[in-house]
Amino acid sequence: MNAPVAEFLLPNLEQPRRAKPPRARLVTDLALPVPVTIAHGDGIGPEIMKATLSILEAAGARIATEPIELGESVYRRGVSAGIDATAWSSLRRTGVLLKAPVTTPEGGGFKSLNVTLRKSLGLFASVRPCVSLHPFVPTRHPDMDVVVIRENGEDACGGIEHRQTRDVVQCLKVVSVPGTERIVRYAFDWARAHGRRKVTCMTRDATMKLTDGLWSDAFRRIGAEYPEIRQEHLQIDIGTALLADDPTRFDVIVTTNLYGDILSGVAARIAGSAGLAGSANIGAHGAMFEAIHGSVPAIAGKDVANPSGLIHAAVMMLIHIGQAEVAARVHNAWLATIEDGVHTPDVWNPRTSSQKVGTRAFATAVIARLGAAPGELPAARWSADDPPAAVPIPAWTPGTRRRRTRTETASTTGSWC
Ligand code: NAD
Repeated sequence: MNAPVAEFLLPNLEQPRRAKPPRARLVTDLALPVPVTIAHGDGIGPEIMKATLSILEAAGARIATEPIELGESVYRRGVSAGIDATAWSSLRRTGVLLKAPVTTPEGGGFKSLNVTLRKSLGLFASVRPCVSLHPFVPTRHPDMDVVVIRENGEDACGGIEHRQTRDVVQCLKVVSVPGTERIVRYAFDWARAHGRRKVTCMTRDATMKLTDGLWSDAFRRIGAEYPEIRQEHLQIDIGTALLADDPTRFDVIVTTNLYGDILSGVAARIAGSAGLAGSANIGAHGAMFEAIHGSVPAIAGKDVANPSGLIHAAVMMLIHIGQAEVAARVHNAWLATIEDGVHTPDVWNPRTSSQKVGTRAFATAVIARLGAAPGELPAARWSADDPPAAVPIPAWTPGTRRRRTRTETASTTGSWC
């Protein structure tokens, strides 16, 4: 049997205080295809998914795909969550979702599909590597290599909103000790396992003393267990400005759901393009891999969308399911394609582009380079020889709870779902 890899996503560290291995981490037999749920999404989703799957197939990925329907068409059928029972049963079976972007219909009455998936699959961590591809994709930050690790289930992105009166609406920012400690520990473990030297936490604890204060407090306490890693805490406004100005001063950033959403968008953009970055969403009951961008309806069906973000997400998925050698083949062929100047219109530039191509031709170019490695950009080194990640997702241990101070007031989270 092949060992569970997930090396990229789940740190391999001998730590006390661990939960039993989550179901999301797979043990795979080399010969057997791994069942993976595939959502083709909306807008540019179907074309970038087709391109990505064609590359995975040509690269020899051992996956058995189970297509499901998600998003706009399901919403339009009257399913307010955008996902139906058939899709859930596939997700329960596979525990792995490769998802193209979906369109959230405008107007009320629709639940955010992404929030539903994160909650239901317990996807507590979003990992978004933002690496520049200088000089092949123009950026003002040629040496940028930042990983944003974002808490994925709490905070103001929980979708808990109320109308208080006709003129006043409210959004609840819910933050818990277990949720915060788990993501902070995950970020430190991830940094340690990947030889990263520094973890920066960003909050607004100067203003939100209870919610963000809980974060900075957990960061300080848990950080003390990782003395070899440099640590800093920044207010989110200063931190975002510093990131935009000089991303090389950052290594791993851990932050709350909403700040992380904004910050990873900024990071991907300044690394070169939002169309290049993928993300891994890791949880106790499954894992989801997707591009960080949306469904870009304006260019849907025109064969001009950049499939790179989804290809990048698929590389992370292959590592997660124990097929690191296929991941390296795809990753390096993709880097070689970018290096050869074969570019979709969103990253095309007169200096380093040689060919402006559409979605399909880009995928064909990647397939033609399978087995090749980039000449200048650092090659991806995912390998089956990497030590298996034996350590599951960190668990929260009761007893580390912060004592309530007299100034704190109790609040209700009754509508939390
Ligand atoms: P978007 O990411 O779809 O588009 C923003 C801009 O980024 C586009 O105008 C385009 O110029 C560029 N872009 C992004 N990815 C690209 C690619 N692969 N190729 C070429 N250009 C690319 O963001 P939006 O316009 O705010 O959202 C559109 C829809 O997508 C909305 O319905 C939104 O709800 C949805 N959305 C879905 C997800 C998801 O499913 N994970 C994430 C974000 C937005």
